[in-house]
Amino acid sequence: MVAFNASVWRERANSLKKRSINAGMPVNRATKRWADDMRNISSIAELLTWCHSKNIHVEFTHKHGGGGILHGNKNMEVDNKSSPRHQLHVMLHECGHYLINVFNKEGRFANGHDAKKCDRKKFDHKIDVVEEELEAWHRGWRLGTRLGFFTQLRDKRHYYETRALNMKTYFKWALKYPGWKLNGDEE
Ligand SMILES: [Zn+2]
Repeated sequence: MVAFNASVWRERANSLKKRSINAGMPVNRATKRWADDMRNISSIAELLTWCHSKNIHVEFTHKHGGGGILHGNKNMEVDNKSSPRHQLHVMLHECGHYLINVFNKEGRFANGHDAKKCDRKKFDHKIDVVEEELEAWHRGWRLGTRLGFFTQLRDKRHYYETRALNMKTYFKWALKYPGWKLNGDEE
C-alpha cells in the first residue's frame, strides 16, 4: 500500500519550480503553478482525512490513464504519477461516486454500474453510466467547495478541464454500439 506523502510532493513542487525557471519559464508563471501545486497538496491531505472519516481506504498507485476507481465503495485508487491537481480532482470525483451510493437510496443511479440488471451494451445503460459519471463530477465539485479547496477563479476551469478529459472516454464508449444507430444518422 502506498500512502500520500505531502512533504515528498512539496519537494517535487519546489524542484519543478526551480527547473522550470532555469529552463526559461517566466517566474510569475512558475510561481503561480507552484502555489497551485502547494494548495492542491494540502487539499489532498485534507481530503484524505475526510475519506478516513468515512472509512474509505485510499491507495496511491500507478493507474494507467490517470484515473481512480472505487471498489465496493470503500477502496479508492489514485494515480500517483499524475499532477497533484489531477490527483485531487480524481479523488473528489471518486468521493462523488461514494456520496451517490451512500445517499441515493432510491437508486436513481443504481442501474448505471450494475451489470447484472442489464445488458452492458444497452444504450439506456450507457446513458445511466454517463449520467452517474457527470453526477459524480458535480458532487466532487460541491465537496471540494464545501471543504474550501477552490479559492481561485481558475480552480473551476481546471476542474472542468479534468472532467472533460475523463468524460471524453465515456462519451466515445457510449456511442460505440454495433448495429445501433439513431434515426437520421449519417452511416
Ligand atoms: Zn467515475
